[in-house]
Amino acid sequence: MTDQANLDQYSLQDPTTQYPKPDDSWKQYQKGAGTEQEQHPKPDAGETTYRGTGRLTGRKAVVTGADSGIGRAAVIAFAREGADVVLSYLPEEEEDAKEVVQLVEQAGRKAVAFPGDLKDESYCEALIQKAVDELGGIDILANVAGKQQTQESIEDITTEQFDETFKTNVYSLFWLCKAAVKQMQPGSTIINTSSIQAYEPSPTLVDYASTKAQINAFSKGLAGQVAPKGIRVNVVAPGPIWTPLQQAGGQPTEALSEFGVQTPLGRPGQPAELAPAYVFLASAESSYVTGETLNVNGGMPTP
Ligand code: NAD
Ligand code: MG
Repeated sequence: MTDQANLDQYSLQDPTTQYPKPDDSWKQYQKGAGTEQEQHPKPDAGETTYRGTGRLTGRKAVVTGADSGIGRAAVIAFAREGADVVLSYLPEEEEDAKEVVQLVEQAGRKAVAFPGDLKDESYCEALIQKAVDELGGIDILANVAGKQQTQESIEDITTEQFDETFKTNVYSLFWLCKAAVKQMQPGSTIINTSSIQAYEPSPTLVDYASTKAQINAFSKGLAGQVAPKGIRVNVVAPGPIWTPLQQAGGQPTEALSEFGVQTPLGRPGQPAELAPAYVFLASAESSYVTGETLNVNGGMPTP
């Protein structure tokens, strides 16, 4: 996105100017889940920058929302750190997913593309089984997929939207964690994706913000439950990050020209800036960290 974005995650950089601030050209709208193919400027998911150092050598990972945004950044980082990855995404996102599959293969790792709908319990079970069949097991589950639709008034939130938001963000987490824990050996990790919205709900994101608070509570409870098995469960809570979610109805289109400028760092984050958080929580470097939430939000205060 900028010259500086060509630097990897180890280079000394000024975080306030490392990536651009939004302007009027950022106002855009996509129907459905949205794709990176149609987003401008294109988010930085570390495609040309993320440098791995073998921190996940030989690991077997499942990542949801793997085609775009934060999930894409996590997949690229996991592969460059040495992991094989099963990629979950919606069938309509095939073009984005193809690029990610290619990047994993370029890193010399195995990519298994397995599109489907996380609102469906049987797909969630099949996704974990896919890792067992194709990778020989699962030791990292990164739940990154999510649904976010802005609505001015509670009267505009249909039961259908409410249901879809909870099915995508909460039920799928329950189904995937349940299936994964059955397969996981000691040392395995689960990373769930919450949001600043869990603590600072926007008036226009009532249903979405509720799911993110649930994800925090679910993850802390599950962390305590599976700790004796040697399985760790942690959370990444992003702030405003430039991804397809935001221009596919996640924010009012008009608000995108100001997206992320309210943070102390004064700009939106890029997916590449989330990847090290997922890698840290997936790897043995975080061996004594469980039930924790890692906020990556440009400095917005959290509880
Ligand atoms: P994104 O649109 O790139 O990723 C979301 C992904 O969710 C999609 O690519 C899609 O593959 C997946 N998904 C949605 N519904 C699905 C379904 N029914 N079945 C299967 N997959 C489905 O956007 P992102 O911002 O990278 O989102 C990743 C996560 O980060 C989400 O959980 C989101 O809530 C969270 N988050 C994002 C922000 C932000 O500002 N972008 C802030 C806080 C939290
Ligand atoms: Mg997508």
